[in-house]
Amino acid sequence: MENRIRVRFAPSPTGPLHIGGVRTALYNYLFAQKLGGDFILRIEDTDQARFVPGAEEYIIESLAWCGIKFSEGVHVGGPYAPYRQSERKNIYRQYADQLIENGHAYYAFDTSEELEAKRKEYDSKKQTFQYCPANRDTMKNSLSMTDAEVKQKIESGEHYVIRIKIPDHTTVIVNDLIRGKVIVDSSMLDDKVLFKSDGLPTYHLANVVDDYLMKISHVIRGEEWLPSAPLHVLLYRFLGWENEMPFFAHVPLLLKPDGNGKLSKRDGDKLGFPVFPLRWTDPKTKDVSSGYRESGYFPEAMVNIIALLGWNPGTEQELFSMEELIQAFSLERVGKSGSKFDPEKAKWFNHQYLLKKSDEEIANLFSVIVKEKGIQAGHDQLVKISHLAKERIHFVSELWAQTSFFFEAPKTFDEKAVKDKWKETSSQLVAEAKDVIIGAADFAAAPLKTTVSNFIQEKKYSMGLVMNALRIAIVGASLGPDLFEIISLIGKEETIRRIDFALANIRK
Ligand code: GLU
Repeated sequence: MENRIRVRFAPSPTGPLHIGGVRTALYNYLFAQKLGGDFILRIEDTDQARFVPGAEEYIIESLAWCGIKFSEGVHVGGPYAPYRQSERKNIYRQYADQLIENGHAYYAFDTSEELEAKRKEYDSKKQTFQYCPANRDTMKNSLSMTDAEVKQKIESGEHYVIRIKIPDHTTVIVNDLIRGKVIVDSSMLDDKVLFKSDGLPTYHLANVVDDYLMKISHVIRGEEWLPSAPLHVLLYRFLGWENEMPFFAHVPLLLKPDGNGKLSKRDGDKLGFPVFPLRWTDPKTKDVSSGYRESGYFPEAMVNIIALLGWNPGTEQELFSMEELIQAFSLERVGKSGSKFDPEKAKWFNHQYLLKKSDEEIANLFSVIVKEKGIQAGHDQLVKISHLAKERIHFVSELWAQTSFFFEAPKTFDEKAVKDKWKETSSQLVAEAKDVIIGAADFAAAPLKTTVSNFIQEKKYSMGLVMNALRIAIVGASLGPDLFEIISLIGKEETIRRIDFALANIRK
């Protein structure tokens, strides 16, 4: 049991999960799966002011959609339950008290107005206020007051917080599995609040206490938490848990496509692609942000895309199933620098996964869209159409635009196509081709192609001229897959009807 691998994903339910968060969860999952360890979902909801209803459910649903599974957690239970910090309220205070007793923390009575005034005072001197060894004696706390004063304040019910007492000039070392040794002098740190006046711990205390109590072996999290890591190392030391301290691995940031800065929650649809796995409706503003799922991405594609943003397999391989990722993943191959999100590459991945799907699967997804258009189409027809068009699309949602002519005869004809490709002789040529098509004995695409090609060759017509005009007549534009596949699928009657309509309506 001693060295069991146990990792956790510990989001705060302050809004939808960003794809960077999904990536952190994925790396934890891959790491645990590869090493036969446990993966825990812990909800860190001690900051009540930032709590957003629906966020926890969103996080759970997003990860489930991606196929990221947990062995323990808020939604599945487990031996270290509860996994929601607000339900663990009673656990934390004793550790804050222990820190006070051992001289590593203290009570602070400064009001928010007083702290604000201090901040302003420092700002006016072009300095940043930090509650720290250099100035804590000038503040209202149990280090600057007599014991009697402190006792009196606490007994009279005055609000207080508990702050860590950062030691003077002590070297703190964070051994990070990705970044190596990160050495920080404690004078860089401030006396962070560990326990708030609302009776709840802050992130720092709750996170360290829970990682310890839940026997977490590796903390794999976003780089934005690296600045907090020295404080966490000190907490492990002060609580007497240094020997059981987990390994740390801080995963580099996801960057905007141009590499300028972190891809933030606010970038989302502004940059033309989603930053959330699922669509999210803000419960307050009702603003809707798009999601990968609703944009037509397959979860396997999503997983593949984010896996390679920060980790590389050391080979040329780009397409990985979850199973292959589990086999190939290692923290050693997670890079130190941020990875640019490439929306075009993301589409390419989806296209690859679309091509891996069977025509039947695509047809089933497409049938929903076709039905919405009020069109009755047989399954076999949809399978054939999916087969013909899948090379040209990134998303099933693009199928309709690529194939609507299979279901609906053109009512108008693309002007540019007519201008460029419908020549003086085109009507005559199409009328002749129509007769050939009427006479065709076998209406399967290949024999039909032979019949029509033979006719064109015998007559010494230009193949391009006839075929372009025929396509405009049948499709309404210069697009679509092989024309004989189209003609074969829509059938003789419909083909003739379309040709007649085109001959009557295309004017040059
Ligand atoms: N609650 C933190 C967050 O929202 C967790 C950071 C960590 O993994 O330690 O990301």
